[in-house]
Amino acid sequence: MNAPDRPAAMPHVMNTYGRLPVALTHGRGCWVWDTHGRKYLDGLGGIAVNTLGHAHPKLVPALQEQIGRLIHSSNYYEVPLQEQLAERLCAISGLTKVFFCSTGLEANEAALKIARKAGHDRGIERPEIVVYDNAFHGRSIATLSATANPKVQAGFGPLVEGFVRVPLNDLAALERVAAERPNVVAVFLETIQGEGGINPARWEYLQGVRRLCDARGWLLMLDEVQCGLGRTGKWFAHQWAGIVPDVMPLAKGLGSGVPVGAVVVGPKADVLGPGNHGSTFGGNPLAMRAGVETLRIMVEEGLLDNAARVGGLLKAGLERELAGVEGVVEIRGQGLMLGIELDRPCGVLLQRAADAGLMISVTADRVVRLVPPLILSADEAAQIVAILCPLIRAFLAEAQ
Ligand SMILES: *Cc1c(COP(=O)(O)O)cnc(C)c1O
Repeated sequence: MNAPDRPAAMPHVMNTYGRLPVALTHGRGCWVWDTHGRKYLDGLGGIAVNTLGHAHPKLVPALQEQIGRLIHSSNYYEVPLQEQLAERLCAISGLTKVFFCSTGLEANEAALKIARKAGHDRGIERPEIVVYDNAFHGRSIATLSATANPKVQAGFGPLVEGFVRVPLNDLAALERVAAERPNVVAVFLETIQGEGGINPARWEYLQGVRRLCDARGWLLMLDEVQCGLGRTGKWFAHQWAGIVPDVMPLAKGLGSGVPVGAVVVGPKADVLGPGNHGSTFGGNPLAMRAGVETLRIMVEEGLLDNAARVGGLLKAGLERELAGVEGVVEIRGQGLMLGIELDRPCGVLLQRAADAGLMISVTADRVVRLVPPLILSADEAAQIVAILCPLIRAFLAEAQ
């Protein structure tokens, strides 16, 4: 996306992202400013990371205090803040144990190791894990193997084996896997696919998968790295379906911008012991404080209700302004995790939205994604609609 006549702005940084020529200097609430003093409404939240927006007046002093006290110790010692955050995560999920790491892919790696270990513990020497079309689980060798996107995998083979892939929301396909593959130990999916284009697993489907997992002794592993932690209006997206998973990887929004990852498990998945897994940074006091304070402030400020209510307004506004527009395929998602699927690739909208003062993302080539901070106000939601919808209409009206 860098214009070809423009010299690279970051010549010593590996070119792994197509970056817009915008550099942010600071933010406040749902607004960010760049080096030219231009102001943007943040519809992206650092990709579902900035739960509390920017420079939250309660989070900043808590983190400052923690930095002055202790940033990192080591997992050779007890870290009381780990227990505090783990206890909270168990309370809101109904699960029982937590392993801490720093990113989403690490949380998913831990989930994959747990599934394999649970299989080996049951005498299954070559365990298999069911994964999904259009899934995204990260960019390590194992998690990119679980991911379905050929662009993520291209050039990095051989892939890790032991995955069986099925389509989303097709219980019959999963039942066929159950009938044909005795070595399956777990089913692994995003409750709402993020990078794959904001594709929700249907509630009845999730309930059916839960039943099948129980009948087969499989672990149900729900990647809530993007859709979890209040984004859909409940703590976790699967709670809309009234089910509880066995394994739940988390990251993105958990530290409100400070890197925190976690895998939360129930009793059937409590299979790792000393020496089985680890992470130097995982669970360090700064990260844990960020998680504890994020969850506390979310409750204090009623951000689950806010995500549901303002997300509903945002979706209704998009539906109203894009009703009947040719080229709009579908508006999907829940709470403040919304996607607008168009009938053609629309990456160009990223720059146009930035030019108009709005941060968004485009995923799966054709889906405009909105994952703003959970503090978004109704007025800010209306501003997103007012900036974005005319851009989409103008884009779709252009000759192809
Ligand atoms: C972002 C994401 C990941 C990977 O997280 P990283 O922190 O980038 O490693 C994994 N799963 C899902 C669903 C994600 O959205």
